[in-house]
Amino acid sequence: MSKILILPGDGIGIEIVAQAVKVIDSLNRNHAMEMTLVNGLLGGAAYDETGSPFPDETIRIAKECDSILLGAVGGPKWESLERSLRPERGLLGIRSELELFSNLRPAILYPQLASASSLKNEIVSGLDLMIVRELVGGIYFGEPRGVEIKNGERFGVNSATYYESEIARIGHSAFQIAQKRNGRVCSVDKANVLEVSELWRDVMEEVSKEYSDVKLSHLYVDNAAMQLVRDPKQFDVMVTSNLFGDVLSDCAAMLTGSIGMLPSASLDKNNFGMYEPIHGSAPDIAGKDIANPLATILSVSMMLRYSLNQAELAEKIDSAVSDVLDQGYRTKDIAGDSQKVVGTEEMGDLVVKALES
Ligand code: NAD
Repeated sequence: MSKILILPGDGIGIEIVAQAVKVIDSLNRNHAMEMTLVNGLLGGAAYDETGSPFPDETIRIAKECDSILLGAVGGPKWESLERSLRPERGLLGIRSELELFSNLRPAILYPQLASASSLKNEIVSGLDLMIVRELVGGIYFGEPRGVEIKNGERFGVNSATYYESEIARIGHSAFQIAQKRNGRVCSVDKANVLEVSELWRDVMEEVSKEYSDVKLSHLYVDNAAMQLVRDPKQFDVMVTSNLFGDVLSDCAAMLTGSIGMLPSASLDKNNFGMYEPIHGSAPDIAGKDIANPLATILSVSMMLRYSLNQAELAEKIDSAVSDVLDQGYRTKDIAGDSQKVVGTEEMGDLVVKALES
């Protein structure tokens, strides 16, 4: 039996997670899975109820669970709160508290959605790349940080810091994923300017010696951004730091044309993970039954594959999503002309139907 913590969060998080829960219920009914679901609070919803975006109770329950499914956090309602109380602090807090250092963000172009990409079909068709982003270190966490008065004016500082052990563990993560894919890792840094990147590159080289079946290459981040839009299919696995990964993975996501289609995993060293769509809480469309739930449903598939050792069931979810797209059903964000536009709820029901057929 697996115990899953469900954190719907804010905005569309509530609607899309409800669809993923339908999928989990279906697996429980039809495939003798015993996934017990426990609900918890994170983000703005947690702040409203407890005064904290990251309540102690949430972390306590998380540590008793085998996996976590998160919707998204944030929204205008909480934007004027002091920084430590904002929903996004809850997200950074849970990642850091659980040491979820390895963020896997696949960018896969579904052939049915090729026309949704901003790039030419021949450049993106068949795209399947994995970005492995370091998630709990680097400039998002480094000290010193803050804004102070210096020499009579405001002065802001953040620090890009990495210990070699932090670089090595994300390196191992990337190389092991590449072993299960096409055996290529491209490490992205800014070693021509930043000392922390020089260390990053040296450690990646050292780690690579343990993986003779994987080929390591390096790119500076500016070139990597250019190559991603010029010829994204040259990449298999890309590994990079927290900040560079944040930017590059959003760029890679847009190559697929649809932010509502992409799942992600954030793993610790034992493959305990938190799974979530890559998009945010989309306050502009919350409560309207138009959000695309497929990224969240595909996050359940990643959970089965990476944390729960159920690759076959993961495959079934992926096929069910593909079947629904083949049948021409689309949520508004991915619909072209002459396609059947369905709402969030109906899309969830269609995936369950395909799963059970
Ligand atoms: P967003 O990803 O929420 O939305 C960007 C655009 O994509 C919007 O137009 C939105 O309507 C659309 N979109 C997003 N998900 C969609 C879906 N499933 N179906 C259809 N359309 C979808 O990013 P944003 O607008 O920059 O941020 C909104 C809030 O979300 C902010 O408070 C931000 O801090 C938060 N956020 C949270 C996370 C997270 O929880 N992991 C990630 C990013 C942003």
